[in-house]
Amino acid sequence: MKVSFKELGLVNTRAMFAKAVKGGYAIPAFNFNNMEQLQAIIQAAAETKSPVILQVSKGARNYANQTLLRYMAQGAVEYAKELGWKKPQIVLHLDHGDSYELCKSCVDFGFSSVMIDASSLPYEENVKLTRKVVNYAHKYDVTVEAELGVLAGVEDEVSSAVSHYTKPEEVIDFVKKTKCDSLAISIGTSHGAYKFTPEQCTRDENGKLVPPPLAFNVLKAIEKKLPGFPIVLHGSSSVPQEYVDMCNKYGGKLPNAIGIPEEQLRKAAKSAVCKINIDSDSRLAMTAAVRRHLAENPGHFDPRQYLKPAREEMKKMYIHKIINVLGSNGKAR
Ligand SMILES: [Zn+2]
Repeated sequence: MKVSFKELGLVNTRAMFAKAVKGGYAIPAFNFNNMEQLQAIIQAAAETKSPVILQVSKGARNYANQTLLRYMAQGAVEYAKELGWKKPQIVLHLDHGDSYELCKSCVDFGFSSVMIDASSLPYEENVKLTRKVVNYAHKYDVTVEAELGVLAGVEDEVSSAVSHYTKPEEVIDFVKKTKCDSLAISIGTSHGAYKFTPEQCTRDENGKLVPPPLAFNVLKAIEKKLPGFPIVLHGSSSVPQEYVDMCNKYGGKLPNAIGIPEEQLRKAAKSAVCKINIDSDSRLAMTAAVRRHLAENPGHFDPRQYLKPAREEMKKMYIHKIINVLGSNGKAR
């Protein structure tokens, strides 16, 4: 049975992105696949009055079950109201849809936004598949994110060893032909907690790895071609050293995990970039807190005992991103 996202109390990204591009901030897109992540995201968004995008990848949908996810998203809207957020602006978004059928299924299941990622296909095929998804989604007022260029790294089903920056000379033709609502670009961000090899980095005076800077010249060239058009950054976790250290201190093994420095994301958020995807940082916060709790309390076996501090750690991280990196606090009162 079909359901419209409007019946679930969700919103699409159209007005949200237009406001964000104009206002020089970005909307957080946080991935989730379980209740504690969802609670932490909604609490953080409600407390800061920030619009928020709940992202579900194909893998997360398989992990959690599509029916359960749909009611969780609907529950999230009601929960946000209960927390005192009168007009919650919450998007349910498919991250990295890889086929027309998957995107259609999500539209039919109450998603308010979908991504069709055909960026690994030849240009003309990317255009064709994206256009097909847009045609279907727009019938139901669901917004569509497309991608041009290839990111390096691993994210669920999507993986690529090398990145290819988006070609600015292609973006006008692509957006015109596909009628997509936003465009994910490749300017040097990368999926996962190992965004760069040590060989790709330099070292600062303390011997700490410093990743190569994002290609802001490519972003600028794209903005010039598509003034005011919403741009999306994937793979934008910062991989906070404190979480990596905490994981490693309590039995983990995450050598040389490295992310995108927050000052670079802050700079991007002020541009036409209006959606920034953060997944790995939540995974790291949760795992670090669970590892610490279990190491310090070897007798605990009630999951609530270790998931509660994990949820608090994620919430703290989400609030930090909203206020100090994206600047989306107070934008959804
Ligand atoms: Zn991605």
